[in-house]
Amino acid sequence: MAPSTAELEFPTETTPSDSPAPTPHPIPQFESWGRYPKHNARVLPLCWQSDFSAAIANLHDSALPVGMGRSYGDVCLLKDGTLLQTTGMDRLIAFDPATGILTAEAGITLAQVLDFAVPRGFFLPVTPGTKYVTLGGAIANDIHGKNHHVAGTFGCHVTQFELVRSDGTHRLCSPHENPDWFAATIGGMGLTGFIPWASLRLIPIVSRSIDVEYTQFHGVDEFLALTQRHAHSTYTVSWVDVTSTGRNFARGIFMAGEHATLPGELKPSPEPKLTFPFEAPGFALNKFSVAAFNALYFHKQLKPHKLLIQDYEPYFYPLDAVLRWNRLYGKRGLLQFQYVIPWEHAREGTIAILHEVAKSGLASFLAVLKAFGDVPSPGLMSFPSPGITLALDFPIKPGRSFPLFNRLADMTLEFGGRLYPAKDAAMTSAQFQTFYPQWPRLARMRDPLITSSFWERVTADKID
Ligand SMILES: Cc1cc2nc3c(=O)[nH]c(=O)nc-3n(C[C@H](O)[C@H](O)[C@H](O)COP(=O)(O)OP(=O)(O)OC[C@H]3O[C@@H](n4cnc5c(N)ncnc54)[C@H](O)[C@@H]3O)c2cc1C
Repeated sequence: MAPSTAELEFPTETTPSDSPAPTPHPIPQFESWGRYPKHNARVLPLCWQSDFSAAIANLHDSALPVGMGRSYGDVCLLKDGTLLQTTGMDRLIAFDPATGILTAEAGITLAQVLDFAVPRGFFLPVTPGTKYVTLGGAIANDIHGKNHHVAGTFGCHVTQFELVRSDGTHRLCSPHENPDWFAATIGGMGLTGFIPWASLRLIPIVSRSIDVEYTQFHGVDEFLALTQRHAHSTYTVSWVDVTSTGRNFARGIFMAGEHATLPGELKPSPEPKLTFPFEAPGFALNKFSVAAFNALYFHKQLKPHKLLIQDYEPYFYPLDAVLRWNRLYGKRGLLQFQYVIPWEHAREGTIAILHEVAKSGLASFLAVLKAFGDVPSPGLMSFPSPGITLALDFPIKPGRSFPLFNRLADMTLEFGGRLYPAKDAAMTSAQFQTFYPQWPRLARMRDPLITSSFWERVTADKID
């Protein structure tokens, strides 16, 4: 159980460890956000911290703890295995307003954390582009946000967690206690064991509002100049048009944001009301519809430069307003591609990859360009490193998307970069093992009963 020294404590109970094993969920099938690949697995809901050991003791196959399935590819899938879904373990355990340290069960979502924290004048230290991810999932992928260049990854703000292994061992992990397990588990993709709870240091805010500056740019050099000019802004990110060529090549909108310093509203967010209603047909996203959207989006900002006060919801989570928007990509689903290329080759690599993407006519309108900073990640396998990162979506089109993805992955490799496992469904063993030469250390610390479809795929062939 988590320590109970903090100021505010919440009633928590755990069932005794000899409680009956949780029962399998027949439906619905667990999907990752990209809806590719589709793998059959049993889903066991975990509701109590002790459920992990009970579930593992009754298993005859491999298992994987999972959260909301907001990873795009197969780090949260396990073909023909058992997924231990943690979202029933969503209790707050303790909060100390003097330090901002919140302790909670790992299945709590960042949306639930915000509902608790914002009215008390606190915010997440790092947030991804959706709030529907769990605390455990955020640690296991060591996620990053728009403030990476000043705040580092999510794991930089995790003060401790518990790690439970299938052999029944429990370890308290922090930068000082069991630091090897701390490092291997942050960004360890769930493979080192099960995290039942964790503590995270929140940051103070005085308002829900964000002061945002929007600036149009044309090309990678203007993006880099804006990045430099805003090196000290807290949040920076850009939308980039990956379909245009010629004089509109790599045009985009640079967004720099700060938490408002004038006291304002601190109320919880309303529930989203819209759900994407159906599977879009495969042809809905094509180069004409995407190019038209991109032109409209770029010009919606009529002036090249604009200042705005925005609520944090549309600023951080514009896509969360429509639940299940991934249906837009149709039944086949989507592939995400996210690289980071180190500064040495970041400019030429980004230009070359953007040309290749534009030429393909395949990409969607969701493309994000950002500079990562040099705050070291605490995780052994963390993805971010100093340089430029580009994230974009491709609808899966037979015969076209995978060859393009493979070309882009090879280009990333040539420019000395790497891809993000949380967004991946297609990198090869050779690519993964070159991107992450430290992977054998994670392999040695992996729980022998835990694996994932991702891990099986990228370690299938051992590359010397
Ligand atoms: C719209 C959108 C925007 C996004 N934006 C960003 C972004 O800006 N930055 C970014 O970094 N990522 C981003 N992501 C990816 C997302 O943040 C990560 O994939 C995140 O890890 C998903 O959390 P989850 O709870 O859904 O975990 P899942 O996807 O279910 O699982 C992720 C990993 O966590 C492990 N895991 C989960 N719970 C536990 C536990 N209790 N113990 C041990 N291991 C566990 C799983 O085994 C798996 O390896 C985005 C995703 C979407 C859909």
